[in-house]
Amino acid sequence: MQYCPHCRKPLEKLFLGERDRLACPDVQCGFVHWNNPIPVVAGIVEHDDHIVLVRNVGWPETWYGLVTGFLEAGEMPEEGVLREVEEEVGLKGTLGSYVGMYEFYRQNQLIITYHVEVDSHDVRIPKHEIADYKWVHIEKVQPWTAGTGQALRDWLATRGIDRGMVEFGSANLEDRGA
Ligand SMILES: [Zn+2]
Repeated sequence: MQYCPHCRKPLEKLFLGERDRLACPDVQCGFVHWNNPIPVVAGIVEHDDHIVLVRNVGWPETWYGLVTGFLEAGEMPEEGVLREVEEEVGLKGTLGSYVGMYEFYRQNQLIITYHVEVDSHDVRIPKHEIADYKWVHIEKVQPWTAGTGQALRDWLATRGIDRGMVEFGSANLEDRGA
């Protein structure tokens, strides 16, 4: 962000609220780009001891992650995660447990994660959004070192599965038994 979205003046760095911020130099305008984190919902989508991982359009071929998405205005995370599951894998889900909140500082996001159960493996992906998906058995899935991977690790622990983490995208999500 370079220009004030209200009055179009070039933004300047100001020390406000204990941090450097980009702010409008016009005190009458008063715009400050606070850069607050954005909430994102993530679903650990399970059926029959398998979870579905998706590869977003534009991601490298080895990158698979949880179903994630932004909230719509007026939507609670519990609703948003079920909507995203339906949009990204074409399955109606049932809300399971709340897994937790996780940081994704790199993208300035706060990831709110739920377990979502679906009653079929019959995934249909929207081609403009999701490039590929895979079902991976919970005994084989390897959590990765990012917010959603930490959520997956914690959820696996509730199933009695203690699993180390690997680097995201390191192709350790293969269901080798399949
Ligand atoms: Zn301004």
